[in-house]
Amino acid sequence: MSGIEGKVVAITGASSGIGEASARLLAARGAKLALGARREDRLKALVDEIGLQGGEAVYAVTDVTRRDDLSALVLLACERYGRLDVLLSNAGVGPISPLADLRVNEWERMIDVNIRGFLYGVAAALPVFGRQGFGHFVTVISTAGLRVAPAQSVYAGAKNAVRTICEGLRMESAGKFRVTGVSPGFVRTEFASSIIAPKMQAAIAARMEEIAIGPDAIARAIAFAIEQPPDVDVGDIVVRPTLQA
Ligand code: NDP
Repeated sequence: MSGIEGKVVAITGASSGIGEASARLLAARGAKLALGARREDRLKALVDEIGLQGGEAVYAVTDVTRRDDLSALVLLACERYGRLDVLLSNAGVGPISPLADLRVNEWERMIDVNIRGFLYGVAAALPVFGRQGFGHFVTVISTAGLRVAPAQSVYAGAKNAVRTICEGLRMESAGKFRVTGVSPGFVRTEFASSIIAPKMQAAIAARMEEIAIGPDAIARAIAFAIEQPPDVDVGDIVVRPTLQA
């Protein structure tokens, strides 16, 4: 199946930013969505809005650090819509800080959400894709890691781990399913609110204010990868503000 119309897409981190923008765009183009995140009020409002506009979406409260939650999200998509075409792994946090500050709990958070959470999604979708004989992993990575900046080592390291695992996934897929990594630069979302160190948060929020692009730009890149014909696998897309060095 090519295009977006009728495809079943599960999205993590759908309650704000890039996930929310992707949900809106994909629903408008006829995808059927299973939306996951922790904030139920946001998910419910988005599902209602999509429904009012003639789209199809359901949600499950999902904490990606809990493997069962990812299994439940994938199961919801399969039960409601009969299959899963795409897993959009987007949930992520970025409590960045210099290593010397030893904010070890925040390092762990990035590992838990950004790596472990991504892997739990892979574990939930792989058996489904294997049974179906098709499927598409679309993962939101980052330009962090393509260029490592001070204070971003753990975040960039986590994102590069995901980048590496995506390539392994592609190599292991034996031509059965597609694997796409989308790496955004600065995007205007709630992302800075996940930064705990106050100076860092202020610096990133200010930089976002200066140069960030809207989340729709990333949603369009995601849609581009999804809409390709089955024999076309878009590997990596980097989308950054023109102003970003
Ligand atoms: P937002 O903060 O707006 O969105 C993050 C999303 O992740 C929210 O929906 C949040 O939902 C969800 N999330 C966070 N923790 C968990 C969790 N434990 N379980 C489930 N969902 C969770 O930021 P963005 O839209 O910018 O971030 C989306 C992705 O884009 C992330 O992977 C981020 O690393 C990446 N990215 C962002 C960039 C930017 O400049 N904005 C640049 C490069 C990459 P909830 O709190 O409801 O659970």
